Amino acid sequence: MPSPVSDVTRFAPSPNGWLHLGHAFSAFFAHSTAIELGGRFLLRIEDIDIGRCRPEYVQGIYDDLTWLGLTWEMPVRRQSEHFADYDAALKRLRTMGLAYQCFATRKEITDAIEASGIGHARWPLDPDGAPLYPGLYKDLDPTELNRLMWEGRTYAWRLDMEKALAKAEEINGGPITFLEEGEGPRGQKGRLPIDPMRYGDVIIARKDVPTSYHLAVTVDDAIQKVTVVTRGQDLFPATYVHRVLQVLLGLPEPRYRHHSLIRDETGRRLSKTAKDQGLRELRLGGATPADIRHLIGLP
Ligand code: GLU
Repeated sequence: MPSPVSDVTRFAPSPNGWLHLGHAFSAFFAHSTAIELGGRFLLRIEDIDIGRCRPEYVQGIYDDLTWLGLTWEMPVRRQSEHFADYDAALKRLRTMGLAYQCFATRKEITDAIEASGIGHARWPLDPDGAPLYPGLYKDLDPTELNRLMWEGRTYAWRLDMEKALAKAEEINGGPITFLEEGEGPRGQKGRLPIDPMRYGDVIIARKDVPTSYHLAVTVDDAIQKVTVVTRGQDLFPATYVHRVLQVLLGLPEPRYRHHSLIRDETGRRLSKTAKDQGLRELRLGGATPADIRHLIGLP
C-alpha cells in the first residue's frame, strides 16, 4: 500500500514591517493545523517587494516566532532567492498567450476611468479595493509595443483573465472550484466556485521583478508541496486567482483553511500600516507568549 502523504501547512509573512497580533494568530493557526493533521509546518519569507522588505524585519519574524515557541523546518524558503522559478511560470503563461505587457501609469488608469463616463464612484473595485483595470494597452499592435519597449517605459505583466479563465476551464474540463475546510468571510465552506473576474486582469509580474504575490504564492505552494493553505479571510478571494494559475500551470490543488481576522476593540482589522502594537514591542515591553495567546483569544 502506498504510504499516505503527510499534510504540509505554511505561514508566509512578508517582511515589510514588524509582525503584529494578527500574524501571531495566523502563525499559531498554521502550526496547530499541521499538528492536528499530523503534518509538517513550514515558514516562508515572502520578500519579493525589494523596495519595502528589510533584513531587520526578516530577523524580527524569526525572533518573534521563536519567542512564541514555534518551530519550523529548515531551510526557510525566501522568495527573493527563487526569481528563476517565477520567471519560468511567467514564461509559460506568456507562451500560452495569456499575459500582456501593460505600460499604464496610475494617472493613465485614473484618467481612463474618468473618461469612461461611468465615474470613479461607480467604477467597480477588485477585492483588494483597487479600481478594476480598464484594459488599456491590452491589444497593443506590435509596432506600438516595440516603440514603448525602446523608450524604456516601465511595465507590468497582466493576466488576460477572460482568456485565462476560459483556457483553465478547458484544461479542467469544466468550472473550477476549491475546497474550503475553514471558513470564508461569509461563512462559506466546502466545495466552492471561483470568481476570478472580480480581479480583472491582475498583475502577475513587473518589468524588474518577474513575479507578483499571486504568481509567487501559487508556484511556491506547489514547489513546497503545501497541501493545506492556511491564511486570513482577507486573502479568501485571492484563492480564485490562485486556482486559475494552478490549473494553467499544471500544479496540484491544495485544500484551503481561511481563518477569521483578529480585530481591535472597534472592530477594525489590525495591520502593519496602522501602527498597531507589534509583537516585538510587546515582547521587549515584558509581555510573555502566554499574554499574546490570551490577547488573541487562544487557550
Ligand atoms: N505574504 C502574504 C501576507 O503577508 C500572505 C500570503 C499567503 O498566506 O498566501 O499577507
